[in-house]
Amino acid sequence: MSHVVVDNPHGLDQQLAALDLNPDGQGGGTGRRYIPPHLRNKDAAKNGFGGYENKDGGWGGAPRDAAYNSFGGRNDRSKSAFFNDRGAGSRGRYERGGFGGGGNSRWGEDSRGEDDWSKPTAPNERLEHELFSGSNTGINFEKYDDIPVEATGSNCPPHIESFHDVDMGEIIMGNINLSRYTRPTPVQKHAIPIIKIKRDLMACAQTGSGKTAAFLLPVLSQIYTEGPGDALQASKSSGQENGRYGRRKQYPISLILAPTRELALQIYDEAKKFAYRSHVRPCVVYGGADIGQQIRELERGCHLLVATPGRLVDMMERGKIGLDHCNYLVLDEADRMLDMGFEPQIRRIVEQDTMPPKGIRQTMMFSATFPKEIQILARDFLEDYIFLAVGRVGSTSENITQKVVWVEENDKRSFLLDLLNATGKDSLTLVFVETKKGADALEDFLYREGYACTSIHGDRSQRDREEALHQFRSGRCPILVATAVAARGLDISNVKHVINFDLPSDIEEYVHRIGRTGRVGNLGLATSFFNDKNSNITKDLLDILVEAKQEVPSWLESLAYEHQHKSTNRGRSKRFSGGFGARDYRQASGGSGGFNSNRSGRSAGGHGGNRGFGGGGFGGNFYNDGYGGNYNHSGSVDWWGN
Ligand code: ADP
Ligand code: MG
Repeated sequence: MSHVVVDNPHGLDQQLAALDLNPDGQGGGTGRRYIPPHLRNKDAAKNGFGGYENKDGGWGGAPRDAAYNSFGGRNDRSKSAFFNDRGAGSRGRYERGGFGGGGNSRWGEDSRGEDDWSKPTAPNERLEHELFSGSNTGINFEKYDDIPVEATGSNCPPHIESFHDVDMGEIIMGNINLSRYTRPTPVQKHAIPIIKIKRDLMACAQTGSGKTAAFLLPVLSQIYTEGPGDALQASKSSGQENGRYGRRKQYPISLILAPTRELALQIYDEAKKFAYRSHVRPCVVYGGADIGQQIRELERGCHLLVATPGRLVDMMERGKIGLDHCNYLVLDEADRMLDMGFEPQIRRIVEQDTMPPKGIRQTMMFSATFPKEIQILARDFLEDYIFLAVGRVGSTSENITQKVVWVEENDKRSFLLDLLNATGKDSLTLVFVETKKGADALEDFLYREGYACTSIHGDRSQRDREEALHQFRSGRCPILVATAVAARGLDISNVKHVINFDLPSDIEEYVHRIGRTGRVGNLGLATSFFNDKNSNITKDLLDILVEAKQEVPSWLESLAYEHQHKSTNRGRSKRFSGGFGARDYRQASGGSGGFNSNRSGRSAGGHGGNRGFGGGGFGGNFYNDGYGGNYNHSGSVDWWGN
């Protein structure tokens, strides 16, 4: 441990000094050779995670459908160039599209269903610009290979190294190019082939590691290959029954469920990208927005539906949506979708209506956290699934530097101002509080202090929520005060700092909140204010800091130690007693070593100093504007190991 040792943890001045808010701070890491987190303890990682590639030898797992046997596209690089010559887009190959340039936004005429869904429709420059202009540029995954992966379950296919290693068809390849994804992220390398061979999947991968595309790409690719099948006919017949053209019940081929409205919208936006120039029309339904408008959108055709559970049930009950032909079910943030709040609605949608049963449909679950008890519950929805864990146990990304500081309730506001003042102008800061009232109060306070800020929480109207998010994303309001509603899934570039003004009471929530920064290989900072009120999270927080090789304040160690001795595991909900989980619970008794290695200290009792808190090394300037500085000392090792 280095410079965060503070004798009097309650002294604000000393905390500030320890945090190096002062740009000249003499941080313990200054001048040390920086070792990127994922390159530390390299040997442990290597030994711990025997690559599964060789275990099962080849594809073995008989796909449910022979049509999906073919990975023949391997190395067929010619396809990648496909959309690059779109200047010549009106040449023969687009002629069959015939959607008048509407791309994926047009759907409806009966005859169109007879088109070959695997062929791209005509390009549309305006739409293309709209969909792809904000795309991610130049994130370097080239050397992002040293990441532990564990895949368990029978007959797991080998992973891919490049998008060209698997045949996803020309539409998907074109859209990958337009999105400027040069290489798959680790979770994509593993999940895409698993989904392509039609296996059910429970995938656990760190926040910001590209899980959305990991399911959207293979699912859409399957739909393009298979075509609409019975769904199209069903929709037609329902139109005839209703007697009026257009008033059809829609039968989506794929359903993606998400816990919050904003996340549903975000997934929908991603889906539109990968459905560009296809016959697939994505739709989104979520609460708080005009249902009439959403129904009209559905009636124009809906092949892939992104939904929050409540509004979907409403749509089903109104006869607007039938799940009879839903062959692909995705639960994003799956552990949240299956916890007590949502479980009854999920059962209503998946088990108590017309959706094909597990084994017939394909079911995929994604999250950064999977408590064991939720994994057990999830079995109800999965058939012979593969469990995939990408990243280290504990699943906070090591790109996120985590700081925990002792701040008394009364000092929180002034401490926050200090942090905000030390933040660079161009970066966004997300501040989490526990209650909606608390969010309003803090927003007011910051506003009065002259900060451009906004807020998002459950008592605000949906319109205000979306507007707030928009203002934040665009940088017009670089500070967003939020409740847990913003903890899951939101992908906002340039969030450099997440501040837990109030810590949450469970560790999953913590993992997801701080995961709003440090996304796709970027670096981020998470600062949490801790005081007496937070003792229930002490132990889990300590564990996660250790696992992510973060500096642990000595007072937190002492507290955890005291806590453990006072109450043997009291205060820790039973649900999480198995850990917050990045491990296949099916393996728990067998013990394949691997992922357990980092955790050995836990059962050994103490929270001792023998754990090696990971090389310190984060220099003194963390709060001094951008994050580049510390990583660029000449002679140091950069993120990719150079
Ligand atoms: P997660 O769901 O794992 O938290 P997201 O799916 O939201 O992560 O992805 C985070 C960001 O990474 C998004 O902005 C997405 O566009 C980007 N991204 C995903 N895959 C790639 C890739 N292969 N190359 C570059 N960027 C990617
Ligand atoms: Mg996500």
